[in-house]
Amino acid sequence: MSTAGHFIRCLAAVAWEAGKPLVMEEVEVAPPQKHEVRIKVHFTSLCHTDVCFWEAKGQTPLFPRILGHEAGGVVESVGEGVTDLQSGDHVLTIFTGECGNCRHCHSEESNMCDLLRINTDRGGMIHDGESRFSSNGKPIHHFLGTSTFSEFTVVHSGQVAKINPEAPLDKVCILSCGLSTGLGATLNVAKPKRGQSVAVYGLGAVGLAAAEGARISGAGRIIGVDLNPNRFEEAKKFGVTDFVNPREHDKPVQQVIIEMTDGGVDRSVECTGSVQAMIQAFECVHEGWGVAVLVGVPRQDDAFRTHPMNFLNERTLKGSFFGNYKPKTDIPGVVEKYMNKELDLDKFITHTVPFSKINEAFDYMSKGECIRCIIDMGA
Ligand code: NAD
Ligand code: ZN
Repeated sequence: MSTAGHFIRCLAAVAWEAGKPLVMEEVEVAPPQKHEVRIKVHFTSLCHTDVCFWEAKGQTPLFPRILGHEAGGVVESVGEGVTDLQSGDHVLTIFTGECGNCRHCHSEESNMCDLLRINTDRGGMIHDGESRFSSNGKPIHHFLGTSTFSEFTVVHSGQVAKINPEAPLDKVCILSCGLSTGLGATLNVAKPKRGQSVAVYGLGAVGLAAAEGARISGAGRIIGVDLNPNRFEEAKKFGVTDFVNPREHDKPVQQVIIEMTDGGVDRSVECTGSVQAMIQAFECVHEGWGVAVLVGVPRQDDAFRTHPMNFLNERTLKGSFFGNYKPKTDIPGVVEKYMNKELDLDKFITHTVPFSKINEAFDYMSKGECIRCIIDMGA
């Protein structure tokens, strides 16, 4: 019997309180409304952004909430007005959308859609502000419009990229956020030239994907900066040639890198979320041409402080969401890069857990033990 048009009861991992383990429970998922689709999630993975909003330190707390945004699944049913997706389509959910009609969607340079750009504080759907999830009649907040830590979820159709049905969802689900973000931050925003040096701050999945972008660009030297020395061995597989642990130096990291590179790196990409690292990433690029790109999600009360001379000396500071990729237009092509073996995703996946053990994924990330942990919804 088709489930279209009916409520679906299924398991979800609900965050009831900041920092407390997620609770596996049965929830009701309403049918998709106008411009929405309901998706059966097959594989999801944990990104640092989920952890930030689960801990809710320095972020707006919104509970109960179903977190999760990196995911691959199959469309179960579509709501009114959805013409580009249908039941059975293989899709990735994306935390920032593409309405196709606004100034940003029409601009070649931007992916900051007016309607569907990332909004971390919204707990309901755009159409009516309501939630499609409930537990014993009590609404549960959405997260980033995706909420993929549930067997079924409802997402705005502008936040859904339709991909090649041959692509293995247990691998390409990581292109739904972290991998594309880091890769695009280098390829689309920092744009290193062949032979140039690139510093990458933070060697988690996002930073290693930024390093992968540097390797694909033909960078000569890739300098990885991380506080966790366990990251360095792993990072060698990603073409990182030099390592700097800020804790092992008694001078500022920017100065260490300037000395290592005879004046500074040509490009830097910050993937930590620490405002200190953001400032260091900017101040370590070379005068005259250096470009720094910020990717990490800062705390709400952070402020970026640097001397204006650092700009006058012809350094450029940029920032990027989702590697400047337009989710619906560009992501199917990034999936094809994996299918054509131009892009290796397997080395990013260090752990897999069944959905019932989702809290273990949080432990792996908190301890800095994993790059990406896949959560298998069917296991
Ligand atoms: P992760 O936790 O796996 O990796 C972060 C790494 O940064 C860790 O290895 C940590 O040891 C290191 N680190 C932390 N502070 C540091 C410092 N001061 N100096 C050097 N290294 C430091 O996280 P991830 O999933 O790779 O995500 C990285 C960041 O990117 C997070 O802030 C996340 O919220 C953000 N993010 C942004 C976007 C976007 O579109 N802009 C998308 C996805 C994730
Ligand atoms: Zn738009």
